[in-house]
Amino acid sequence: MPVFTIAIHGGAGTILKQDMTDEKELLYRQGLSDALDAGYNVLQKGGTSADAVRAAVCSLEDNILFNAGRGSVFGKDGHQEMDASIMDGSNLMAGAVAAVRNVRNPVELAYAIMTKSPHVMMTGSGALDFAKLHGISVEADEYFYSDFRYQQWKQMQGSDEAALDHNVKVSDDKKFGTVGAVALDINGNLAAATSTGGMTNKQFGRVGDSPIIGAGTYANNNTCAISCTGHGEPFIRAVTAYDVSCLMEYKGLSLREAMAVVVHDKLIRLDGEGGMIGADASGNVEMQFNSDGMYRGMRASDERSEVAIYK
Ligand code: ASP
Repeated sequence: MPVFTIAIHGGAGTILKQDMTDEKELLYRQGLSDALDAGYNVLQKGGTSADAVRAAVCSLEDNILFNAGRGSVFGKDGHQEMDASIMDGSNLMAGAVAAVRNVRNPVELAYAIMTKSPHVMMTGSGALDFAKLHGISVEADEYFYSDFRYQQWKQMQGSDEAALDHNVKVSDDKKFGTVGAVALDINGNLAAATSTGGMTNKQFGRVGDSPIIGAGTYANNNTCAISCTGHGEPFIRAVTAYDVSCLMEYKGLSLREAMAVVVHDKLIRLDGEGGMIGADASGNVEMQFNSDGMYRGMRASDERSEVAIYK
């Protein structure tokens, strides 16, 4: 029986045990487990890796704890603009959306762009029009509101700074996380997806790495599926996800070796804080980061399973 596997992340950054209450940690762990189950159930029924990463990412987008979909951070203008992407490693098809508002599950919109349009990427109001045309769920602003996110943004509103969700503190509370998933299905196909609200107080239509194919997301059956999280700008400049694939394809490195080069060397040299998850066609899973922590988890048909937060 071929092995199938799924891995997810809920963001990386300054995630420290001392900033977390037991109660909150439990909620995060539950959120990660629920998302893993959602993806794993698809794979167990013989579903595709693309459907599995969609299911896992939708679960995280619906969870207000994570910076994607419902829990997206506020931009400088007080709006929440979301980015997402998905890639199918079996045919190198990809879909991405940037700076879109009010879409409940941006990963579903990215998937619709991949499967129902001749394009790879759509942005802003045009992307919203496309979503409505294809019956993708849209929600009012209130759906995306949480007092925590609002306070987080208020703290930065006067400045021109933008901050990684993970690194903005509000009183004794902290919430983290761009989300992503990678999967290998029973037919040996790989897929990856990433979704985010971006950085708190972002402005000028800033878009990070998450919807950029090759930077935040990449999948290729010959190498690996990768989803990244962290400070988007260095991740874009390092073409991070594709670089892992290239190191495997052109240099013959293993997934673990390739990811280590990118996360612990190349990104560090660009001041790129964050991490990534990856899977390869043999069912290996890697979850590496150069920050204090990364919300993460994996489950495989050969009984491997893990949910972790700190280093
Ligand atoms: N990579 C995302 C961005 O820069 C942020 C994150 O991973 O939390 O938009």
